Amino acid sequence: MRRTKIVATLGPATDTQKTLESLIAAGLDAARLNYSHGHIDEHEARARAVRRGARRAGREVSIIADLQGPKIRLQRFRNGPIVLAEDARFVLDTSLGADAGDERRVGVTYKDLPKDVKRGDTLLIDDGRIVLRVERVAGTAITTTVVAGGELSNNKGLNREGGGLSARALTAKDRRDLQHAVRQGCDYLALSFPRSAEDVHTARRLLDRAGGAGIGIIAKIERAEAVDAADDIIDAADGIMIARGDLGVEIGDSRLPPVQKQLIKRARRRHRFAITATQMMNSMIDAPLPTRAEVFDVANAVLDGTDAVMLSGETSVGRYPERAVAAMARICIEAEKQWTEYEPDSMLDASFTRVDQAIAMSAIYCANRIGVKAIAALTESGAVTRWMSRIDTDIPIFALSRNPQTLRRVTLYRGVQPMDFDVTAVHYTEVTREVLAQLTAIGAVARGERVILTKGDLHGHSGGTNGMKIVTVGEFVEHVG
Ligand code: PGA
Ligand code: MN
Repeated sequence: MRRTKIVATLGPATDTQKTLESLIAAGLDAARLNYSHGHIDEHEARARAVRRGARRAGREVSIIADLQGPKIRLQRFRNGPIVLAEDARFVLDTSLGADAGDERRVGVTYKDLPKDVKRGDTLLIDDGRIVLRVERVAGTAITTTVVAGGELSNNKGLNREGGGLSARALTAKDRRDLQHAVRQGCDYLALSFPRSAEDVHTARRLLDRAGGAGIGIIAKIERAEAVDAADDIIDAADGIMIARGDLGVEIGDSRLPPVQKQLIKRARRRHRFAITATQMMNSMIDAPLPTRAEVFDVANAVLDGTDAVMLSGETSVGRYPERAVAAMARICIEAEKQWTEYEPDSMLDASFTRVDQAIAMSAIYCANRIGVKAIAALTESGAVTRWMSRIDTDIPIFALSRNPQTLRRVTLYRGVQPMDFDVTAVHYTEVTREVLAQLTAIGAVARGERVILTKGDLHGHSGGTNGMKIVTVGEFVEHVG
């Protein structure tokens, strides 16, 4: 069983039902709809295709709606791409027409840019390929000197080195897309470019108002200031994405490895999950096999403790989407064999305030010491399994729930497997027997093996877990309570 989860971005390359189902068969756990690209009708069709494919495969696959956020872009050129020479002057002018760019100037989508930048700032275009130094700001015009030149085509992204641009996290388009995502029944919302916990709270309020109270929020860490505010952002969200593309531009690529490691650790410590994203298998956009460096990147993310690894262009526009998922799956499985010897953080110094959390942590500590084959958690919200999965283990954690949204939510938690189980349909004296029967039926446990079961006295209540027991398959004698 693979513990690390796989997220793949859907796009034109995955738009036949057959391809999508091949991704699911290869191990896809969560499908990402990228609202930066494509029309909402396409996202709608993709969401439907995921549900259909998951149903056919008998697997749980969650859907992540990833909002575009305030990505700042240069606008377009009148006569096609231009070439910027080193040391040349180049003006970014927010009052210029969207298609009126030329060799000397170009428009910008973010109208407040002149207020946010000052002389001496470094602006990075197209993920840092082109570098501009700000010389002067006057009215709507930012005059720059080209530090690193090259060809520049339409709609390229712009970041400021060091971050600090004040664009709000949720644009008007994001607010519309959020409503759309709720209507599609997505399970997670990925929030792009949050600066602080407040941006996450705003998204939460918008989701609640749109009828999406059960939707989890993934905060994408892709601004320099989000790294500084990471603990608060992590606490406000359900999980984070280490969005290495934009983040690398803002903080510099050489800082990415240590920051990735720290963010994953901090997310786990704060009982949230982490997705490691961007360029993990980038060469597979055109090639059937990853490079050695990419194999190491995925494996190292697993050793860092990530919950999930993500594919972007590799699946959305790549030539080998199914092979990219399959390659990730086999690399994860191999790396996981090493993980327990690596640097387990058992959080023995942590203290708990909630009863269900105390039970979850006791169950996992106990499982790691007494030798059990599986942990079975009866759960309404999935929270107990998220707590359990923060502690390093190689024992499978089964989230048994009757709530379809919970079953999909746990697809992003490392080591947690969803299992459909309606506790309210079973007489309370028979629950343990039924759980063991289901686990035995799928081959997860066998006669004579131990299982830890956690549940609440009041079956079917969220947050009610207050007990755990250790049972041996085949020896269980039904009893009351
Ligand atoms: P994006 O986010 O693909 O939406 O840009 C990921 C990243 O920036 O790495
Ligand atoms: Mn990004």
